[in-house]
Amino acid sequence: MTHQNIADARRIVVKVGSSTLTHQNGTMDLRRIEALVRVLSDLQNEGREMILVSSGAMSVGFARLGQTKEGKSLAEKQAAAAVGQCGLIDLYDRLFSEFNHVIAQVLITRDVVENDARRDNARRTFCTLIESGVIPVVNENDTVSYEEIEFGDNDTLSAHVAHLCHADLLINLSDVDGLYSANPRADASARLIPEVSEITPELYEIAGGAGTALGTGGMHSKLEAASFAMRHGIPMVITSGADPKNVYRVLEGAFVGTLFSAK
Ligand code: GLU
Repeated sequence: MTHQNIADARRIVVKVGSSTLTHQNGTMDLRRIEALVRVLSDLQNEGREMILVSSGAMSVGFARLGQTKEGKSLAEKQAAAAVGQCGLIDLYDRLFSEFNHVIAQVLITRDVVENDARRDNARRTFCTLIESGVIPVVNENDTVSYEEIEFGDNDTLSAHVAHLCHADLLINLSDVDGLYSANPRADASARLIPEVSEITPELYEIAGGAGTALGTGGMHSKLEAASFAMRHGIPMVITSGADPKNVYRVLEGAFVGTLFSAK
């Protein structure tokens, strides 16, 4: 799929990271979330089938508890995620309802996609929801997940969801606007790479390991997600989530971000 025919993508997974959905203090960025819901609702109205993979549970949870993530135990983080997920899904439900859309909360862990029977079951549920016109809102089931069964970051999760749902396109809305030839925060000569057709070891070197204080994914996990998606024939775009209307621009074939094209 190239920039030109990406407009035809019908079933689309949009992944949004914690640092895009929340303020620095962890509370929900209402303006951003409202803008995102409007765009997704509009595309659903157009006849597309939208699936949202939303992070932010832990950040929102800690903010609601008046705490921060630093130095917290796994149990405390899982408890915060349970609190935050409630707040997030409640807001999504109210906002999508304003545009007459029904959402469904889907929380999964890695063991779901690693087991044939559980994967098939999840796939059937996703397809049933989507075919009923429902917009699934997906997150990792952080409250019960631990190292052996977790995706660990929602970049990876979103690629698996795209594969599970037979999506045509995966859009990763991030706090970076794409993959650069060097770290743009440290190197002024860094330039945005508009299209990648093969993930090479050099790209991993460029990507480094950086994540943000709020989210767990960095460029490394985005490359792994892109690699998984490409292997399964699904193109992925990384673009800035600062303006959710970038999703329109991607679908219009505009060069916003980096397209990882699938064969
Ligand atoms: N599932 C985590 C949350 O909702 C986010 C993981 C990630 O940032 O990739 O807080």
